[in-house]
Amino acid sequence: MVSRLLAVTLLVTSLNAYAAAGSGHAFSGEQALAFTRRAVAMGPRPDGSAAIVRLRALIRRELAADGCSVTEDSFSAGTPDGPVPMTNIICRFPGKSGRAIAITGHYDTKKMANFVGANDGGSSTGFLLEFAATIAHRPRRDDVYIVFFDGEEAFHDWSDADSLYGSRHLAARWASDGTLGRLKALINVDMIGDKDLHLVYETSSAASLRNLVWNAAAALGYSSEFPNNANQIGDDHMPFINAGVRALDLIDFDFGPNNSYWHTPQDTMDKLSARSFDVVGTVLLRVIGELEGEK
Ligand SMILES: [Zn+2]
Repeated sequence: MVSRLLAVTLLVTSLNAYAAAGSGHAFSGEQALAFTRRAVAMGPRPDGSAAIVRLRALIRRELAADGCSVTEDSFSAGTPDGPVPMTNIICRFPGKSGRAIAITGHYDTKKMANFVGANDGGSSTGFLLEFAATIAHRPRRDDVYIVFFDGEEAFHDWSDADSLYGSRHLAARWASDGTLGRLKALINVDMIGDKDLHLVYETSSAASLRNLVWNAAAALGYSSEFPNNANQIGDDHMPFINAGVRALDLIDFDFGPNNSYWHTPQDTMDKLSARSFDVVGTVLLRVIGELEGEK
């Protein structure tokens, strides 16, 4: 019975692979979780650590294998601890329309003792790596940017000056080089790996984009993961919102009882599930298709 089940599973897997041939593979939550595990195995990854240097190399290697053009936006951030070198990593898959869609998230982890950031910093990294691999060989109309932000976390107490270093830098750079004007939408993911996934209906985000994403989730049967729990969250979408971009933050800010795993040593791999990555990946693939249909 076990071997028959295995045979059926293998057949279904190969049929899925066949069906997806030529249009990229389906988003794999298991693969996103595996990428996350590799990042977390490097230990704490705050700016200035040897681990974040190793993680950048891993991100670059994986993106190069996906065939996107990889550029780095490196700068010196003025932090309360003095200047710190930071690097946003940008993967661009070219389209034909001249317009662009960006999917973003952060890869740094908060500098704290014994904090490995499986969900906070890890899940966005793993998600974006699998998302890039998924869309790599799909035909597309718009440019798709996959952006790994550095320096999301505050060095001390969160403030406008001490947070969002990477996204503030890229928003300014993309304002001056004209990229912002080509963006149809920017969707940021953060802490999306929680087993008990309940995303915030984030009220600073662009309403039209939030409606599009929530409607796509409902159509796919994911309304319990995309409920209407309104909250306002400061995150990497804000520098783009402030620059007039149609941007959205997708974050689960209820991580453990009363968010008690957030920014604690409890933020570990056992709190995550492949299914949560699958839900977000499936919704965002559909959303990209709908955005490409817009002028
Ligand atoms: Zn954090």
